[in-house]
Amino acid sequence: MEVAIPDQPQVVLDKVKRFVAEELNPISFQVEKAGEIPEEIVEKMRRLGLFGLSIPRQYGGLGLSTVDEILVYEELTRTNACFRSRIGTSNSIGSMGILYDGTDDQKQRYLPRIACGEWTAAFALTEPDAGSDAANIKTTAVLDGDHWILNGTKQFITNGDCAHVFTTIAVTDEKKRARGGFTAFILENGFPGFTVGPPDEKMGMKGSHTNELVFRNCRVPRDNVIGGMEMVGQGFKTAMRVLDKGRLTMGACALGASQKLLEICVDHLKQLIASGRSKDELQAAQFILADMATEIYAARQGLHHAARLRDTGTNVTHEASMVKLFCTEMASRIADRAMDILGEAGYLKKYQIEMYLRDVRLYRIFEGTSEIQRMVISRNLLKE
Ligand SMILES: Cc1cc2nc3c(=O)[nH]c(=O)nc-3n(C[C@H](O)[C@H](O)[C@H](O)COP(=O)(O)OP(=O)(O)OC[C@H]3O[C@@H](n4cnc5c(N)ncnc54)[C@H](O)[C@@H]3O)c2cc1C
Repeated sequence: MEVAIPDQPQVVLDKVKRFVAEELNPISFQVEKAGEIPEEIVEKMRRLGLFGLSIPRQYGGLGLSTVDEILVYEELTRTNACFRSRIGTSNSIGSMGILYDGTDDQKQRYLPRIACGEWTAAFALTEPDAGSDAANIKTTAVLDGDHWILNGTKQFITNGDCAHVFTTIAVTDEKKRARGGFTAFILENGFPGFTVGPPDEKMGMKGSHTNELVFRNCRVPRDNVIGGMEMVGQGFKTAMRVLDKGRLTMGACALGASQKLLEICVDHLKQLIASGRSKDELQAAQFILADMATEIYAARQGLHHAARLRDTGTNVTHEASMVKLFCTEMASRIADRAMDILGEAGYLKKYQIEMYLRDVRLYRIFEGTSEIQRMVISRNLLKE
């Protein structure tokens, strides 16, 4: 499918703003209830180029810079977070391994189909015994002639049941493990021995599915090692590099939700004042509002600074962890305070505060929990 590539990032941003206001906001409740995004909306996302925001133009993506891409995410998370999640893995953790470390042939084979949204890309690292401690994965891959034979289970895989292609990591050398014994593979849904479980029942992100993936003597062509056979053993590095970008993205999503919550609270207080409540009486709520706005301002500066650094080619592992930690913890605080400001109204579904409260909690868990970000940051500060 052809995606019309606009010349200016601002054009993309304006289209996304309209899309959120006119197409996504009106169906947010419906999607929350159904637990699914309607296919016609996914099709519109494809036509807007949302599956290939950061994939370079030579592969059919929009080729946005990190700064421009996070601006799009900030807009997209001012509505139900599941919409961003549907395109998120294709733009980030699902495709970046191929873009960074893939062979030319792999880039040509997969990126154009991911960029136009024909194929959704996902990332499968987590296992029952390996979440934060990703180095503890048990899935194995053994070379057998022209194929690798994969055995193991991945869990909590976002877009697991709608993805056509997965970046997955398996142990290829039990002695070396994370130090040269893990390998990254490109796995297509349809390879023999690969099955996807039903969607998990979750607290939030209702319209975004996560699934278990099972590899039972799953046959993956020898050439589907990301980067080719010389990259056997380098999979852990690929996975960690992919996560740097993902962590900035999570910061942007948390920021977009926080901004929207602030606006809901501002509107609510303005309405109270318009209906006769004195400003003095509302001083406590006004102070909460001021703190929210101040935190959002600080978070935005940090996020945009880290994104600009990444665009200059600087390694942003340290900054990405600080951004993810600050923005995602802030979003939970702000959702909770928004509930304080709206009081009982905040507890009603129609104001959607409760939806944000549930959804933003996830940002503190995936792509590295807050504790893991603190470990990355402090390790970097204390290194010799
Ligand atoms: C909705 C959802 C979507 C997801 N999507 C994906 C996906 O697409 N692909 C994928 O691969 N994974 C995905 N995940 C998995 C996610 O990345 C993991 O859940 C996350 O890394 C945490 O791992 P865990 O759940 O095993 O928790 P654990 O690692 O068991 O952690 C439990 C608690 O212990 C803390 N903890 C752990 N280790 C330490 C330590 N050393 N020091 C201090 N505290 C520690 C953690 O911070 C956490 O609070 C998803 C998860 C969810 C919930």
